[in-house]
Amino acid sequence: MSIRPILIHPDPRLRKVVPAVPQVDEKVRKLAEDMLQTMYDAPGIGLAAPQIGAMQRIFVMDCEREEPGDHPTVCINPEITWASDEMVTSEEGCLSIPDYYAEVDRNERIRLAFTDLDGKRREEEFDGQWAICAQHELDHLDGKLFIDYLSAVRRQMITQKMKKLKKERARA
Ligand code: ZN
Repeated sequence: MSIRPILIHPDPRLRKVVPAVPQVDEKVRKLAEDMLQTMYDAPGIGLAAPQIGAMQRIFVMDCEREEPGDHPTVCINPEITWASDEMVTSEEGCLSIPDYYAEVDRNERIRLAFTDLDGKRREEEFDGQWAICAQHELDHLDGKLFIDYLSAVRRQMITQKMKKLKKERARA
């Protein structure tokens, strides 16, 4: 397992609709392990493959904040099959947009179909933080970021700050 560098917005790889994983093999399992380790190290509660430059439909999450590492969840080729009419507003952040948080509306509960690390297709219902996180991560696989839900002015302001951050990091 290894910790991979996380791409910072703006980056063209964070804006791509990425293709499905054709088959769950050793390479995919290794990628998922690296993603989990990178996420826990950050630390974060979710990470999508494009955030480390792996252009495939995989995300990982673990929303049990009390004991990190307890509920590693790997979702391959995820699809929302049902979403509640009830919405919930919460403050979101993103490992690719460090130190910025904003309120975003999401469906309160969802059912998610996905392939697990054994290559089995399954369907699970998520609520609370899990449902919010899954929708945020699924957006990443379609090249969408949480700042896309904000006003254009706010989005541009955050993007400028991120450009500055990237320059500072490149110099360091
Ligand atoms: Zn994110």
